[in-house]
Amino acid sequence: MSENRIAKPLVLYVDDERNNLMSFKASFRLDFEVLLANSPDEAFEILKKHKPQVIISDYRMPFMTGVEMFEKIRLNYPEPFRVLLTAYGDVEALTDAINKGQIFRYIKKPWIEDEIRSVVKDATEYYHTKWLLEEKNRELTEAYKELDRFVYSVSHDLRSPLMGILAIAGFLQKANSMEEVHEFGDMITSNVTRLDEFIANLLEYYKVKRGELTISSVRFEKLLDEIKGIYAIEMLDKKISCEIKVTQNEEFRSDKLVLLIVIQNLLSNAIKYQKLDNPDKQIELSAHVSKGEAIITVKDNGIGIGKEFQPRIFEMFFRASSQAMGSGIGLYNAKMALNKLGAEIKIDSDAGQGTAFVIRIPSK
Ligand code: ADP
Repeated sequence: MSENRIAKPLVLYVDDERNNLMSFKASFRLDFEVLLANSPDEAFEILKKHKPQVIISDYRMPFMTGVEMFEKIRLNYPEPFRVLLTAYGDVEALTDAINKGQIFRYIKKPWIEDEIRSVVKDATEYYHTKWLLEEKNRELTEAYKELDRFVYSVSHDLRSPLMGILAIAGFLQKANSMEEVHEFGDMITSNVTRLDEFIANLLEYYKVKRGELTISSVRFEKLLDEIKGIYAIEMLDKKISCEIKVTQNEEFRSDKLVLLIVIQNLLSNAIKYQKLDNPDKQIELSAHVSKGEAIITVKDNGIGIGKEFQPRIFEMFFRASSQAMGSGIGLYNAKMALNKLGAEIKIDSDAGQGTAFVIRIPSK
């Protein structure tokens, strides 16, 4: 968007007279990026490959008038602003076209250079404003959808552990033995852990969504060690072995917090979704940096993800398994964070076969 603003406007000029095309190009080549078409057919071909902000066309052309051509163009390419060049006597014929919204402006022939410049300037400004408005509208629609999902999730994921704790508190008051007290205590701990994880995920969501990127040099050996350290005790407790493999012979620049959030989410899933009865639980964390990009893999030999669930795995609040009481936000956050870094994430998994998440990130 900002590039478009700085760049010269892209203008398509359509006229059946070659001399006019040549003189248009000669007059405006320094002001606009000029595309020329000698006929409506040529214009249609050009529009398949280019996206001009403005189309200027002669009204009188053989086989099709400029207005008829605009009518056709508008069906498939509604975005460019359409400007018509007309001889004095044709003005009457334009009323209909103007009223139907086929054209943005008309300019009388012979054209005056400054008038063309001013019309193109206005049209380009409208074009950008419209584009910005559409973009904001898209963001707003998406934000509304997220809000709906939030309300649903908050009512479910925050209320149900709270209701659980309330019920347990009632049982606790009537506990008959220390054994029962311990049992109820464990249940409260598990509910509070669920709540805490949910809130931590929501905080991550806001950090990633609203935060600016902070780019610095990343040493993967250190970063992966740090992340492994966060889960070391849990992995020891669950008898999971975790191997780190790194090859990095060049500088890699990225946002450390974003990388941390993403890899931490993937590692936490690799731990959560192990096969509980597997005596040989394994996780591999690897990073390979070369030619300005990093490939990061988080691989486990856990329960895997069925192919039917994989297309939805990055949706907000989507869960494919009830093995762990997750919030369904982790992978959504990870994907959103990776989008910010211009990175892509792929999944290689099958039910019962373990899972590998592979991320490809360009250095900034
Ligand atoms: P959650 O908090 O539920 O783990 P995520 O967004 O992190 O939310 O993951 C979404 C779902 O994807 C999980 O509920 C789980 O079903 C599945 N999933 C994610 N990672 C793995 C994995 N490594 N192995 C198996 N299933 C996974």
